[in-house]
Amino acid sequence: MIRFEDLLDKVRAYAPEADVELLRRAYVFSAFEHKGQVRHSGEPYLIHPLAVADFLADMKLDAVAIAAGLLHDVVEDTLTTIERIQELFGPEVAHVVEGVTKISAIPFSSSEERQAENFRKMLLAMVDDIRVILVKLADRLHNMRTLNHLAEERRLKIAQETRDIYAPIANRLGMGKVRNELEELSFRYLEPQTYESLRAKVDAKRRATEGLIETLKTTIAAKLHEAQVPVIEIDGRIKRLYSISQKLKRQKIELEQVYDFIALRIVTESVKDCYGVLGIIHQTWSPVPGRIKDFIAMPRPNGYQSLHTSVVSEHGMPFEVQIRTIEMHRMAEEGIAAHWKYKEGRVGDQRDERYFTWMRQLLEYQHESRDPQEFIQSLKVDLYPEEVYTFTPKGLVKAFPRGATPIDFAYSIHTDVGHQCVGARVNGKMMPLRTRLKNGDIVEIITQAGHKPSRDWLNAVVTSHARYKIKHLIRSEENARSIELGRKVFEKDARRYDLNPKTLIEGEVFAKVIAEFGFRKADELFAAIGYGKVASKQVLTKVVPADRLREKAPEGPVAAAVRRVLGTGEEKIKVRGFDDLMVFRARCCNPIRGEKIVGYITRGKGVSVHSATCPNVVNLLYDPERRIEVEWDKGSEESRYTVKLTMEVEDRKGLLAAVSARIADINTNIKNMEARTGEEGARIDMTVEISDLKHLEKVIKSLRSVDGVIGVERAGRAG
Ligand code: MN
Repeated sequence: MIRFEDLLDKVRAYAPEADVELLRRAYVFSAFEHKGQVRHSGEPYLIHPLAVADFLADMKLDAVAIAAGLLHDVVEDTLTTIERIQELFGPEVAHVVEGVTKISAIPFSSSEERQAENFRKMLLAMVDDIRVILVKLADRLHNMRTLNHLAEERRLKIAQETRDIYAPIANRLGMGKVRNELEELSFRYLEPQTYESLRAKVDAKRRATEGLIETLKTTIAAKLHEAQVPVIEIDGRIKRLYSISQKLKRQKIELEQVYDFIALRIVTESVKDCYGVLGIIHQTWSPVPGRIKDFIAMPRPNGYQSLHTSVVSEHGMPFEVQIRTIEMHRMAEEGIAAHWKYKEGRVGDQRDERYFTWMRQLLEYQHESRDPQEFIQSLKVDLYPEEVYTFTPKGLVKAFPRGATPIDFAYSIHTDVGHQCVGARVNGKMMPLRTRLKNGDIVEIITQAGHKPSRDWLNAVVTSHARYKIKHLIRSEENARSIELGRKVFEKDARRYDLNPKTLIEGEVFAKVIAEFGFRKADELFAAIGYGKVASKQVLTKVVPADRLREKAPEGPVAAAVRRVLGTGEEKIKVRGFDDLMVFRARCCNPIRGEKIVGYITRGKGVSVHSATCPNVVNLLYDPERRIEVEWDKGSEESRYTVKLTMEVEDRKGLLAAVSARIADINTNIKNMEARTGEEGARIDMTVEISDLKHLEKVIKSLRSVDGVIGVERAGRAG
């Protein structure tokens, strides 16, 4: 068992200035809080935080980290709150303890590799202080060492999590030693039979090859000496059980076929010497074709450098040789090389490379700097600033670019979930769909059958997947509407000339005309009419002889009423002429019942209805083919339109009250009213509910009669 005084000595040895009082208080507090608790081994609980702290001292961390190590389980396992820790030990220690408590609480539930990778990234992204991860790794290492005391189910879960999450993180952080131990231990617990049988086989091999390794070392040392190539170290070893087992699995081979079951490592002084050694190795033993790798000329993306070759000894034993300079060796040993990456056959992406460059600088800095405080400060960076990691309610991790919203989240689940998404619960709370998601958010999507995305969702998503799906749906809906609209326009035009549209469309001539316009089927032609690309008159003139196109009397009321519910669902427009098409009031002039109106076929969005007096209508005249006649549906129930009015008024008190009283007198609803005074004098803006043109005229007339009102205008249009 570790004694606290020994721990203090260890810390003092590398950090004479360390705050020993802080450590002592943390130790006493932890001992008090965990009093009476026992580990599954039956030992006092305090052994665990002490072991964790001792491990952090081995890493030469600062007093804050070691104090946090002593206190890391206090919040989770006792009644102590994080506020109390802050009070007693300051914000920094509290921050680290809170971070460890937080990441320990995250439920990791999948062993799928992509999920694991996301989870690792999320863990790293969640901590803004690398000491959180280091304490967590120390915690995990001690738990793995004492895992045999736990029940099997817990044991397997912890071992799995260690293998999937913590060993790779240790590796990524350059902690090769920790990683190796975590991997060996999880292998032993996760696959006990495989582990034991492999260990027996490797032990047998080890006994048979121990002499061989010595012979190989002696042989090559003599050859190098003879060639006058200076070497610093020649090392021979048998690979770790876990990495052998991985190799057998991956390459589906037997132990005998593992080339680097034995590995020689030769450390030299210079790069030139590395290549010299390689030449001599190949003169001494036959190289295995295709096994030479020059990571000096072409370093791994993570910075790893070395020469690798596999050769066959004079006894017929294949083995691997790694040749590197002392500098490269140090980098590799310190974890910078991130050995796991190349073994797992990955190519690091740009972010990883930047990350490793950063790590390398840090580790070099660590060697130069004697001040642990300064070192720790430099570690506080955002490891993955461009990404955000979130959860499904079932604990699956989903990674997005920063700025992602629940809409992105919904589309990442399924296209239909995206289309039908109407709301989101983030961490159990209803949130707007445009909420930017944060690391660790648990997101639940609420859907409604039949719901469809709107165009402005395009501004609320950051993933290209969601953007594509939304655009695709909008486009296909627009297309369907255009086909329907084009068909109606064509049919209407045909009837105007007293022709039967059905007969025309089904006739042989029509089929030819479709091809003439460059389309393959009728729908494509109708879509072109609906989009306003082709005029229906153009089509008609090709389908029937010119003399039959003599116009009949102006069009009378046709077809049934159209209803198009817009925006808020309050404003309805009913226009005769078309049924069930997208017909909407143009925003520029917002025509109301009773006004003279004109329709215009927009590109892809249906028919926009303008007031005949709208200035835009004049501009529309340049393309008369896209104009269509529309009129108000006479037989419909009462409608309501919101109309904006703006009044020029005298700047005096009581006017606002007088205006609203007058409006109330004529039974009209005011939705909004606002008074303002500017350089151009005083104005009142007002939105009222109007049933038709007569009603509007009445409202304007009575407003003009109010004392102090200089002028009244309908907002947003001329005249
Ligand atoms: Mn613990």
